[in-house]
Amino acid sequence: MVQISERKQTASQENKNNPFNIVRQQIDRCAEILELEPHVVAMLKNPMRELHVSMPVRMDDGTTKIFQGFRVLYNDARGIGKGGIRFHPEETIDTVRALSAWMTWKCALLDLPLGGAKGGVICNPKEMSQAELERLSRAYVRAIFQFIGPDKDVPAPDVYTNPQIMAWMVDEYSTIAGKPQFGVITGKPLCIGGSPGRGDATARGGMYTIREAAKAQGIDLSKATVAIQGYGNAGYHAARLCRDMFGAKVVAVCDSKGGAYCEQGIDPKQAYECKHEDGSVCSLSNTERISKEETLELEVDILIPAAIENVITAQNAGKIKAKILAELANGPTNPEADDILFANGVHVIPDFLCNAGGVTVSYFEMVQNAYMYYWDEAEVYDRLDKRISAVYNSVLNISRQYKTNMRQAAYTLAVKRVVDAMKARGWV
Ligand code: GLU
Repeated sequence: MVQISERKQTASQENKNNPFNIVRQQIDRCAEILELEPHVVAMLKNPMRELHVSMPVRMDDGTTKIFQGFRVLYNDARGIGKGGIRFHPEETIDTVRALSAWMTWKCALLDLPLGGAKGGVICNPKEMSQAELERLSRAYVRAIFQFIGPDKDVPAPDVYTNPQIMAWMVDEYSTIAGKPQFGVITGKPLCIGGSPGRGDATARGGMYTIREAAKAQGIDLSKATVAIQGYGNAGYHAARLCRDMFGAKVVAVCDSKGGAYCEQGIDPKQAYECKHEDGSVCSLSNTERISKEETLELEVDILIPAAIENVITAQNAGKIKAKILAELANGPTNPEADDILFANGVHVIPDFLCNAGGVTVSYFEMVQNAYMYYWDEAEVYDRLDKRISAVYNSVLNISRQYKTNMRQAAYTLAVKRVVDAMKARGWV
């Protein structure tokens, strides 16, 4: 009996944390507010297209391994598909569906003329050689070739993928197309059509929203303390920029293996080097070792989850003491946790606003590729700041006007834009 009820509990927890279930719940909340008709809701709740591919890849030891991958085009009512590719051992079709839906709302919220898409491959890049990763990246492009392209669907980096992987993918696509097609992917190295400023764009966009949120909340960022969960591209740059842009003190960082705390402040660069040498930030010298969970519950002004989904749930939301929760990861907070945070007065900058700097600069990269004319870094940062800060303030105004949380306000604005486009095109 006990076993059965435990199993039931795990299943219901899994259901609650299934990111695609969360997406659908969020759509239901919007449907009520926007009074959407059932067929419109049905369209919003389902991806328009999904590809499942199997890819044989020759491994270094001479064996052949079959990898599974996905590419989901969630909705292209507002423009061609846009969204990253994740290489992750626990990738599932539901995660990719959810992430592609979030890309749809993200592009709409930032008013980019793009739809939403996402890709994923089940693999563990930490256990693969560079040569194996290259063969897998090329195999993935061959498998999805017909469905991506500068005028169809444009991928980009995401969790465990990077500019080098994008470069191999661009090359494979260009080889099959028989001509250089740099516009097929964003987040490329600069020497093959990448945009200045794309490398730290996700974190930098998040910083602009934090700056606006601090103004609204009356927080002096030069005296603020910060904790960061996740120390990949987004987490590292966030730590660096919190210090360099605001003079804020990063007191804790963590990654999948554990965390490091230091009241006097952590040097972001040292933490980065430590992660690359030892495989984790938790062995950083002159710091106290803390757990991942403790990192989230610290008494800090700003908490930045910068890793993966579902780290803030009903179990720990009540213990979060930060004044601002800046979601640089996609989907770090589940809906139950959201309600608790709102009731406790934590100011949440929702993921698809806070981390939209990445796709916004990706869009700038697409524009520069199409014109074959490149801007300098200052111009990219300036355009990103103007756009994302204005969106932050519109969302804040809506949330104040309707007395809802920031996520709901952002959703309502974004989903309405997608519905308007579907209506204008005569779909619904
Ligand atoms: N992977 C990033 C995101 O989730 C960027 C996507 C893109 O640049 O297309 O927003």
